[in-house]
Amino acid sequence: SDMKIITVIGSGLIGRSWAMLFVSGGYNVKIYDNQPGQSTKAITEIKKQLVELEEAHMLRGELSAAQQLALLSSYDDLSQALDGAFFVQECVFEQLEVKQSIFHDMERFVGKDVILSSSTSCLVPSKVFSKVQNRSRCLVSHPVNPPYYVKLVELVPHPETAAAVMDTTHALMTKVGQAPVLLKKEIDGFALNRVQAAIIAESWRLVQDGVISVKDIDLVMSEGLGMRYAFIGPMETMHLNAPKGLEDYMSRYSENITRILSSFGPVPDFCGEAAKSVINVKFSVCDFQKVFQFWFKEHFSTLTREAV
Ligand code: NAD
Repeated sequence: SDMKIITVIGSGLIGRSWAMLFVSGGYNVKIYDNQPGQSTKAITEIKKQLVELEEAHMLRGELSAAQQLALLSSYDDLSQALDGAFFVQECVFEQLEVKQSIFHDMERFVGKDVILSSSTSCLVPSKVFSKVQNRSRCLVSHPVNPPYYVKLVELVPHPETAAAVMDTTHALMTKVGQAPVLLKKEIDGFALNRVQAAIIAESWRLVQDGVISVKDIDLVMSEGLGMRYAFIGPMETMHLNAPKGLEDYMSRYSENITRILSSFGPVPDFCGEAAKSVINVKFSVCDFQKVFQFWFKEHFSTLTREAV
């Protein structure tokens, strides 16, 4: 194939996001869903979003909303949806059996070089692809919600995944403006969710132990650590935080860090009496997309395509 057509399997929140990203990079995107009519509805929803983004000057890519929309098509038939694709991004329910069976079905309709990629957040590749025969073309490409604003994609190989498949996927993600990272082997939670779990656990313990309020622990991230981490990672932060870099940082602070780490409590169970002080808090904001749109407009308005 000529590497122009991508098939998106499953047209929920994440399937629609992938479709929007791939058309922003100029690819033809064929959307399939096993609920009849669902993929057509998805295109209607995407159209609405593309028009809104264009009006807000936040549309990604070089093409207009109308041009991007013209690259989309919807299918209720799996074999038609897969015809001509060089890359398939699966976005069905997060259930192992559902994923295993859709990949098994897909393999009947695609050539052996077609890359099969899963959006799974919590399942490891060796489980997801266990019913696929040619697993060297399989990987997980894990996006972060909302993917149109958060660019990270974790690329996670099956033990048998070919290096060329990782490379092609890395290039594709880069081309559509995402920020891919490579995991060298599979691990439960990949990288992002493992780091996130550590942050959740300690934040939860601090509130539960009466050290700080829910509102204030959120501020510790959004006005503190998060401000650094939005631009530079923990390693580079340490490097910049000591006059002579990372080694210097560790010679000054590693004792502190080790002492604090060994004072961490057990893994919280996130329920029961103790959790009530955390769970009963009311939040005023309830729409993820809107928060990101607002935040981007506030902070990055000068970086949008129209303004450059
Ligand atoms: P969703 O429930 O919004 O959408 C799933 C879609 O898949 C539905 O439209 C459903 O009709 C369709 N579907 C189900 N079984 C199918 C099948 N056999 N064939 C074709 N279509 C089928 O779910 P979502 O939030 O879009 O999540 C999709 C995947 O992306 C999951 O694996 C999830 O873990 C992963 N993911 C989600 C997020 C997130 O924040 N929502 C983030 C990263 C990754």
